[in-house]
Amino acid sequence: MNPVALAQALIRCPSITPADAGALDVLTDALAPMGFTIERPQFGAIGNLVASRGSGTRRLAFAGHTDVVPTGEPAAWSVDPFAAVIIDGALIGRGAADMKGAIAAFVTAASRYLDGGGDGALSFIVTGDEEGQAVDGTARLMPWLADRGWLPAAALVGEPTSTARVGDTIKIGRRGSINGWLSVEGRQGHVAYPTRADNPITRLVRVLARLQAEPLDAGTAWFEPSNFEVTRIEGGEPVANNLIPAEARARFNIRFNDLHSAISLEAWLRAAAEAEGARASWDIRCSGEAFRTEPGPLSAALVGAVEAATAATPTFSTGGGTSDARFIREYCPVIELGLVGTTMHQVDEAVPVVDLHTLTDIYAAFLDRWFAQG
Ligand SMILES: [Zn+2]
Repeated sequence: MNPVALAQALIRCPSITPADAGALDVLTDALAPMGFTIERPQFGAIGNLVASRGSGTRRLAFAGHTDVVPTGEPAAWSVDPFAAVIIDGALIGRGAADMKGAIAAFVTAASRYLDGGGDGALSFIVTGDEEGQAVDGTARLMPWLADRGWLPAAALVGEPTSTARVGDTIKIGRRGSINGWLSVEGRQGHVAYPTRADNPITRLVRVLARLQAEPLDAGTAWFEPSNFEVTRIEGGEPVANNLIPAEARARFNIRFNDLHSAISLEAWLRAAAEAEGARASWDIRCSGEAFRTEPGPLSAALVGAVEAATAATPTFSTGGGTSDARFIREYCPVIELGLVGTTMHQVDEAVPVVDLHTLTDIYAAFLDRWFAQG
């Protein structure tokens, strides 16, 4: 088995969420001959795949997604984004880095492990809904696995975590993220008679200034400082210039570390509004709480594998955006390592062919180490 050919076959399926375009069939055809039992749970419009083989208490799952983000203007690409051509040693195509290349590397590593006589319990948990709403993918696959008693003991997510060289960065957690609207109510009136009105824009600005004035925290040993960021302000009539409006709203995002939770942050927002005497209401959506996987056997096996395959020691990180690890961590320890992510979601997304082989070596060494621990 060759990770490059498999990555090319996957990229040639234009699986822009929610389309599957044959990507999970490619994976099924690769895994079934290796002795994996394949299930294809369909949730809503989304196809998903669970493949498992072997038994035992140290079941290790590789988790990932076959869906990709849109290409943008195809003419901006120097090649067809779904042709998976190799130019100057780089495989170019949508999903090459995020994350069809990593899926191909892990399938190849698993095949190498099994060919070498390995018989550890292995699973693949692959969804077609990571880049979209992420509601009919891993979020539903984990309880689906739990219902059947098929949960793994640990999981590796193949997101493109590497920054300069393959294997240089392992994600051991992720920040949480909240998107929300803050609405402040006032009393409408004529600008010439401000005492008869209550300007909600003034109050909203004061609340926002208060929220910005004090940092949420100074960061921790593992996390960057949490950050509150305003992304939009609305209020007032677009035409009338003599009207104090009745309502003003601000949209915001909070990226937060594990010193906070969605509940504690809502209380923090409420306290700021109360301190400014603002009649405020909130609409908050938490897309993931902050989490960290304590260093242990899982990270030790992966660090050892990277050192063996690349002769360099990886660093641990919790930076960047959210990933499907947020859905897995409630069920088992989860860690993330994949290709270099500098071109992901960009025009001419690409990955050096040599990196696919290096990542395969890392994953294969990781399988050996993880099951040797048992
Ligand atoms: Zn991804």
